[in-house]
Amino acid sequence: MLVAGAGPVGMTTALALHARGIPVTILEAESEDRDRSGSRAIYVHGSTLRTLNRVSPGLGSKLVENGLVWPTRRTCWRGKEVFCRTYDSPGGKGDLPHFTSIPQVRTEEFMHEALEDAGIEIHWDSAVEKVDSTEDGVTVETSDGQVWETPYLVGADGGGSTVRKEIGAEFAGDQSENSFIIADVDEVEDDPLPLERLFHYDDPSVGGRNVLLVPFTGGWRLDIQCIEGDDPDELSSDEQMREFVVEVMGEKYADNLTWVSSYKFLQVMADTFIDDHRRVLLVGEAAHLLAPFGARGMNSGVADADEAASAIAVAARSKYDSVAHDEVELFAARREKAARYNLDAAGQALEYLQGDDPVTVLRKEAAAALADYFEPAGEYLDDAPYGPHTPPPIVTTGNY
Ligand SMILES: Cc1cc2nc3c(=O)[nH]c(=O)nc-3n(C[C@H](O)[C@H](O)[C@H](O)COP(=O)(O)OP(=O)(O)OC[C@H]3O[C@@H](n4cnc5c(N)ncnc54)[C@H](O)[C@@H]3O)c2cc1C
Repeated sequence: MLVAGAGPVGMTTALALHARGIPVTILEAESEDRDRSGSRAIYVHGSTLRTLNRVSPGLGSKLVENGLVWPTRRTCWRGKEVFCRTYDSPGGKGDLPHFTSIPQVRTEEFMHEALEDAGIEIHWDSAVEKVDSTEDGVTVETSDGQVWETPYLVGADGGGSTVRKEIGAEFAGDQSENSFIIADVDEVEDDPLPLERLFHYDDPSVGGRNVLLVPFTGGWRLDIQCIEGDDPDELSSDEQMREFVVEVMGEKYADNLTWVSSYKFLQVMADTFIDDHRRVLLVGEAAHLLAPFGARGMNSGVADADEAASAIAVAARSKYDSVAHDEVELFAARREKAARYNLDAAGQALEYLQGDDPVTVLRKEAAAALADYFEPAGEYLDDAPYGPHTPPPIVTTGNY
């Protein structure tokens, strides 16, 4: 089998196929010595850790050993604390915690090691350029001039996916109204801040903007939400960011900014996750792009990867096309439903944060006013920006 893309989702797909006894090769556009640093996933859900441990024994545990679990959640409202809770066992009591916080670049390093241990090859400098699927399989042409034949192709080639375009699928959805400035700041190792996740509504020290501060191994993610009239380029300049870092984190962090970028988040999914012949499957950001509130991008991509591998493992051994088709269609039904759910959850969080709906604004103000006397009001303010707040959908084939 072939997987396009050696991001976290493509690597997980390859491991999940290998775990099911299916030989697999990855085709990657970039070179082996590429630099993948930058502000991306830090929050890895417990379900992702379990999936990684299942498809590559020990991989999820390695992320836990090298990640961290913060014990404290704290929320402030216009300069005043409205909620704070510290947990004795913040990760829960199971063998894997509810989450771990580790930079994506580290996660990817561990995935690379797992691929090497499993003997899975990555063909670097091999961008997928052309995909031609038929009833019997898929022909893939790569930028190095090679032509590949494969029974199934998984497109894990990210938001600009060539595989998605080649099968004629299209992204539909919208974009966040506000921009967000996202920065990574190195830890001050000999005098670190306490490990807590902080959300500050309308923080007066940064001109009344919302601020999210989250620790990960070796550093902090600082997220500042632009307000009307802001110029994101100006706000993300080195000078301005240095000021923000000092205001939010203290003088000792002034020179520790490692990465800053500004985003408007896309909220989109492909109109189909499979091709007409049920031979090409889209996973991860090739299939959907989500705003990061709720941390569902990479996490849901890992779930896509596992389900795609499961469908292919059955389909590839099926005696009848009808069964193979059904497996691939069921993958699409499940993961399209999950993507819709994740988009809605991230969309609700965005709407809540961008907050011009009068009911939401009033609810936030009322909760802030009550927080001193009524803990659930503070807890509402603490929890609301993340989501999802409803249970996930159950997808069936219609057989009950
Ligand atoms: C600021 C920020 C914070 C985030 N925080 C979180 C978080 O806390 N938790 C979370 O779960 N997610 C988070 N995400 C999302 C997460 O980073 C992405 O969902 C994840 O990187 C998607 O992985 P992927 O493998 O689908 O795509 P990518 O990481 O984009 O990988 C795609 C790969 O395909 C390769 N490729 C591209 N084109 C081709 C081609 N034609 N042929 C072959 N290869 C190709 C690329 O070089 C790349 O290696 C965050 C994102 C951002 C921006």
